[in-house]
Amino acid sequence: MEAKDFIRAQIVADLDSAKHSKIITRFPPEPNGYLHIGHAKSICLNFGVALEAQGECNLRFDDTNPEKEEQEYIDAIKRDVTWLGFQWAGNVRFASDYFDALYDYAVQLIKMGKAYVDSQSAEEISKGRSTLIGDGLNSPYRERTIEENLALFEKMRLGEFNEGDCVLRAKIDMASSNINLRDPVLYRIKKVEHHQTGTKWLMYPMYDYTHPISDAMENITHSLCTLEFEDHRPFYDWLLDTLATPAHPQQIEFSRLNLNYTVTSKRKLKKLVDEGVVSGWDDPRMPTIAGLRRRGYTPESLRDFCDRIGISKNDGVVDFGLLEFCIRNHLESSAPRAMAVLNPLKVVITNVGDEVLTLNSACHPNLPELGTRDIPFTQEIVIDAADFSENPPKGFKRLVLGGEVRLRHSYVIRCDEVIKNEAGEVVELRCSADLNTLGKNPEGRKVKGVIQWVSATQGIAAEIRLYDRLFSEVDPEAGEGFLDCINPEAFKVVSALVEPSLAMAKPEDRFQFEREGYFVADLKDCTDSKLVFNKTVALRDSWGVKE
Ligand code: ATP
Ligand code: MG
Repeated sequence: MEAKDFIRAQIVADLDSAKHSKIITRFPPEPNGYLHIGHAKSICLNFGVALEAQGECNLRFDDTNPEKEEQEYIDAIKRDVTWLGFQWAGNVRFASDYFDALYDYAVQLIKMGKAYVDSQSAEEISKGRSTLIGDGLNSPYRERTIEENLALFEKMRLGEFNEGDCVLRAKIDMASSNINLRDPVLYRIKKVEHHQTGTKWLMYPMYDYTHPISDAMENITHSLCTLEFEDHRPFYDWLLDTLATPAHPQQIEFSRLNLNYTVTSKRKLKKLVDEGVVSGWDDPRMPTIAGLRRRGYTPESLRDFCDRIGISKNDGVVDFGLLEFCIRNHLESSAPRAMAVLNPLKVVITNVGDEVLTLNSACHPNLPELGTRDIPFTQEIVIDAADFSENPPKGFKRLVLGGEVRLRHSYVIRCDEVIKNEAGEVVELRCSADLNTLGKNPEGRKVKGVIQWVSATQGIAAEIRLYDRLFSEVDPEAGEGFLDCINPEAFKVVSALVEPSLAMAKPEDRFQFEREGYFVADLKDCTDSKLVFNKTVALRDSWGVKE
């Protein structure tokens, strides 16, 4: 295992010193939304470290807020982790698997005089804890006897109180400079059903209490989490030092992934879904793993991205362009090429007959193993309307009246005539082909431009969904205004004509549409009877560059 960051260095040291013989990590999502690109960083770290150290990584759902959690999220998270290419050890685990143990540990704390039932209101408790200067205020209930606390905690368990009547708190130090040690709440009453434990529990343990014990129950060696938990570490250690748990994992913090033009907060992403700003958690504009997948990102590209950003304690903002670079890089060397015309303009080749000429071309210039495809050439073809200009700007290398251009994989043609409708719009071009230019340069002149085309009669209609970045602001999370900086141009649908070899495209097949970008057959909507492609990314980084 290579010590390529401070966490891996610690693990290597712990293996070398024989502190641990087997490394066990965990990825602990709360099933209250879909995973996003930030979670991918944590997944790649936890599962990656385990793989490199020939250890194990558990998938554990931190399910202590039943009212916000759902089976749909559990299923989606499992699917996303698997799709990213990782396998958790054994069965999926739930913090709720440990509710009995957590309860027993809480009783132990009470018996040790280290926990008490507090009958103050939530407001009083938080006021007492969070006096910014000086010590916190002791609760008037802090000195309840062990017997009284045991009896009250039992009543909490049996549902004899209402929500908010009381909580169980650890008894640590109200004068601590770390607010997390000022008698944190361990249990609160919630008379709600739980997706795993049904109606068994009427009170639920807090995350900060549940997490260390769950880690210990699973013999986790290194509990890797993001920097905001640094201040929680003293309580993590206090709890595991105080209780005789099976293990005392080491919590190590690293910085979160922040990505510009993106929000990485499940709560905010849920808002986009709930308010109908996007079509769902897997909308191809979403920075969720499911959304990136539908957009055409590959697991390899996301893993490569996580590898490149690395692990540190520095809170930086990563440029969205790096993510795009990673997918472009992967698809450049793996996606077969095809021709698609997104904005068709009819072209009639006047000097060929109405028979179909079958041309053939490699699916990928450098990957002969991807084979070849047939490309039918016919009298009527379409080209992209933008590839013809009546008033060509300086340096325009494509088709103009009287000019020549190479049809990709086919002949050089010359535009002889422009046909317009009554509104004066160009509706058709009449061209002649130089029939001596198949696979060779024309004699005596140079033709610079190459344009893509599709047979008008043999091509297939396809719906193409053009996506761009969801937010128009570099930092959409600045303030609460992320809903105000949605990029209205981020989703457009066009009717295209694509080469017939694409008829075979199956959901999630990826292609480079020559000169247009990388596209993926939509996971949900691309069927045998209707082709639907999503634009994954442009061929080049043109963000902010006007064409
Ligand atoms: P959110 O704020 O989006 O709800 P969270 O941290 O509350 O995120 P969890 O489901 O609790 O979401 O996260 C599971 C794991 O993923 C945690 O260990 C968390 O630290 C990590 N994680 C979440 N967001 C990021 C991020 N942006 N970068 C790196 N790791 C992250
Ligand atoms: Mg969380």
